[in-house]
Amino acid sequence: MDLLSNFRSMLGAANVLTGNDAAPYLTDWRGVYQGAAQCVVRPATTEQVAGIVALCASSEIPIVPQGGNTGLVGGATPDASGKAVVVSMSRLSRVCGFDPENNTVTVQAGCVLQTLQEYCRDRDRLFPLSLAAEGSCTIGGNLASNAGGSQVLRYGTIRELTLGLEVVTADGEIWNGLGGLRKDNTGYDLKSLFVGSEGTLGIITTATLKLFPLPRMTQTALVATNGMASCVQLLIRLQTQIGLSLTAFEVMANECLKLVTSQFPQQHLPFDGSSVDAPWFALLELSGSQDREGLGECLETMLGDALEAGEICDATIATSVEQERAFWHLRESITLAQAKGGKGIKHDIALPISKIPEFVEEMDRNLSTTFPGLSVMPFGHLGDGNLHYNVGPSPRFAEDALQRSHDRIYVMVHDAVHALGGSISAEHGIGQLKRGELKRYKTAHELAMMRSIKAAFDPMNILNPGKVI
Ligand code: FAD
Repeated sequence: MDLLSNFRSMLGAANVLTGNDAAPYLTDWRGVYQGAAQCVVRPATTEQVAGIVALCASSEIPIVPQGGNTGLVGGATPDASGKAVVVSMSRLSRVCGFDPENNTVTVQAGCVLQTLQEYCRDRDRLFPLSLAAEGSCTIGGNLASNAGGSQVLRYGTIRELTLGLEVVTADGEIWNGLGGLRKDNTGYDLKSLFVGSEGTLGIITTATLKLFPLPRMTQTALVATNGMASCVQLLIRLQTQIGLSLTAFEVMANECLKLVTSQFPQQHLPFDGSSVDAPWFALLELSGSQDREGLGECLETMLGDALEAGEICDATIATSVEQERAFWHLRESITLAQAKGGKGIKHDIALPISKIPEFVEEMDRNLSTTFPGLSVMPFGHLGDGNLHYNVGPSPRFAEDALQRSHDRIYVMVHDAVHALGGSISAEHGIGQLKRGELKRYKTAHELAMMRSIKAAFDPMNILNPGKVI
């Protein structure tokens, strides 16, 4: 039997896609990468995933795992050779276990993040991973890319939320590492290796994840600041005074919010006068089990002090759940607004927080001198030292000119990040987009260790080849 017939008898013909049916799986969210594949298969059980991998392994056929396909580095798109099989995890979408006493949930990899958040909220628990693509991205994709998002400041990335995994390895074996233990020091931490491995070491099928008490209330404020240095001062002020109650601290350059309000005219800033022209805005969220008024008073006092100290020029504290949502909606619309504004260049960088003002000032200056007219639109998770230092086309700098300058801009930004002790990928991963960059900034020793791990887990190089290393 040929490969496709084998898959059809294993999964049913409706779950083996070719031609036009396969097309949406062969390009990425931004439309930057276009690949080809023998077929897209849609297993519904771990055993089916294992069967697919075993079959591919027997003929050394490359496998590309795919979740919600919202990744931003081309990790879920096959190459153009047409040899690969794309394994869509969308049918493994069940929540399999909820354990309120141990505060854990066990969920299949294809479950959409928002579905899991809602499932937990309905049971009075918080699953804190939160990001703008949460309506489409999946837990498996989140794990494979070690997703971060807006609550990392308080709860960590998904690696810190992971207690156990079930994984199909490159030989088609199933590893059941699903325990809900908070402590387990029995040798190498295998689950941590799979988290962030972008489908190159195994296919994650199920995960046991940590839950938290549902915060009883939140307070959200949008703040107009005098610049990035002021944002850092405000962050330090809040962290020193209220510690763990600060659950999010996001920053957005004025250009980002201008783009959002022009692309989506129903959205607007809660400021008028000169505050609208502030260079940087901060979106901050406090949450906890205190009473709402207490938390609100505390926030008001801290923002009042920051205003007096000249760190900020204006602030609005949301007075309703709708207004909180509207503030978050502004932040979460930035990626979409930038995608609508033309193909830009994304830099997902991490730096020590104290170095970020220096980086932003220097980079803004260097880019505008070397590439006059370029649109610089950074935003990000300042609380984690993570900026999406994105640049885009503008009426003075056309999209094709920007793409021609891609490599020079990449090197300029990433060299500066590296010189300041930062990372060229904070939360999006390497995929195919940053493979060359990885070689540039990792030492030969680091790359050799990574290659040894890959060879040990996937000696035939069939799992997502051409990604990461
Ligand atoms: P996919 O894109 O399908 O895959 C991502 C990678 O994981 C690929 O390498 C794929 O091969 C691999 N993979 C997928 N499923 C599995 C599996 N079950 N087993 C093994 N490997 C697998 N990311 C953040 O971290 N923080 C953000 O704040 C954030 N904001 C975003 C906002 C927008 C609007 C968009 C479009 C993206 C954003 N992202 C963000 C990036 C993206 O949403 C995340 O990387 C997400 O975790 C990817 O999940 P996915 O299911 O879409 O994975």
